[in-house]
Amino acid sequence: MPSSSPFSTLCPSLTEPLTTEDVQAFVDSVESTRPATDAQLERIREASRHDAQLQKVMDVTLKGWPAGVEDVPYQIREFFDSRGHLSVSDALLTYDDRIVIPASMREEILERIHTGHQGITKCRERANLSVWWPGISKEIKSKVQLCHFCQENQSSQRKESLMATVLPDRPWQKVSTDLFELTGRKYLVVMDYYSRFIEILTLVGTTSQTVIQKLKSVFARWGVPEELVSDNGTQFKSALFDEFKVKYGFQHTTSSPHHHQANGAAESTVRISKHILKQEDPFLALMAYRATPIPATGKTPSELIMGRQIRTTVPIMAKVLEPKLPNHATVKKADAKAKRGYKESFDRRNGTRELPPLQPGDWVRTKLDNEKQWTTEAKVVSKDQSPRSYIIDTGGRRLRRNRRFLRKVPTPACHDTPEDDSLIPDISSESTPTDIQEENDVIPVCSDTSPTSNLNLVPEQRTSSGRLVRKPIRYREDL
Ligand SMILES: [Zn+2]
Repeated sequence: MPSSSPFSTLCPSLTEPLTTEDVQAFVDSVESTRPATDAQLERIREASRHDAQLQKVMDVTLKGWPAGVEDVPYQIREFFDSRGHLSVSDALLTYDDRIVIPASMREEILERIHTGHQGITKCRERANLSVWWPGISKEIKSKVQLCHFCQENQSSQRKESLMATVLPDRPWQKVSTDLFELTGRKYLVVMDYYSRFIEILTLVGTTSQTVIQKLKSVFARWGVPEELVSDNGTQFKSALFDEFKVKYGFQHTTSSPHHHQANGAAESTVRISKHILKQEDPFLALMAYRATPIPATGKTPSELIMGRQIRTTVPIMAKVLEPKLPNHATVKKADAKAKRGYKESFDRRNGTRELPPLQPGDWVRTKLDNEKQWTTEAKVVSKDQSPRSYIIDTGGRRLRRNRRFLRKVPTPACHDTPEDDSLIPDISSESTPTDIQEENDVIPVCSDTSPTSNLNLVPEQRTSSGRLVRKPIRYREDL
């Protein structure tokens, strides 16, 4: 991704050799944006000072690299291919906007990049934002492959979308919410469709009132969305919730019952949330998710929702943290393209085809709650406003069902020969695919930033050798 030396951004059309003034101007511009008190950068600077190889690279970078690799001292040859990206500023070697980490600190930084157990791809994306060294990509790969947690939690995750949602026009315009339980605790998760930013909140109960309180705290932080999507949970169907909706002024959309795919964004968010909550420090895991590019958009949830990257435990140059709005058109295009790709590969793997629409008056068979067979006959009353859903009449009872759970029959009398049988996917093998798609080793996420919760974070500790000591956080108790 990085393609040019920082010098080229200073002097875009530069063809002449750099003068000392040019170099100093660049160094000054870098220094002026660096927080003077950043202890982490100071540690890297100090370690770089004691790293003979880096010192040599910095020296050659300042003086100019030889034309051919054969003239480069053997000790620093592994940097030769990257020489166009390297520069030196304030006693730090940089690779574009990334800090080159000295050998003595690489293990520790790898550990930090791996925080959140997000898989190989996302760990690499994370590193791309801020740090570099020769062979970092390979080292990330083996780190993840050797990690038990990553290996155990990897496969199950990603199911892909059948129905791709269009990316909203701006952050926090459309959000989804869902309740879930993990090891006996109840949580509420809220996800922004645009940025994929996630908020995870603990629930003391599952009443409308409790859920509304939590949503209010999230809305206080991010504002009121235009549209809130949820399932048909009783919390969302009360008079209290209706009142909340009117008072705060948002539209509430519920997904079709018995068709999880329709509320796929929330389902996917729940999976990500559980992945985060299972970790020893869920807050760091959530932070890592928010600070890592989402493959579909190529941007981090933080930069899409706030227009800035957040500072994490991975070292980063101050200028990367400066506010900068991503280009919406580019993001939207990337997202649409990714979703098309997910849909195609899903359809290919599952052999699914679009089912023909139904007309009012059509006879269908459907499965009711707990029914394994297509035993219930019904008549289509109308198309529902939610996509691919219909209102049906089962002889007095009106229900909403997704098209997938409706099987057209010619007449109620000859239901043994369903007309479009061949077009109906095998429901028994259905894997409830979801709406939001992630790559195989991608993990989205979040946690409770609610001002009302008292979270006791355990400070980081190190052994005498400098290794990080991770104390489990009594997260579940504290939340
Ligand atoms: Zn891991």
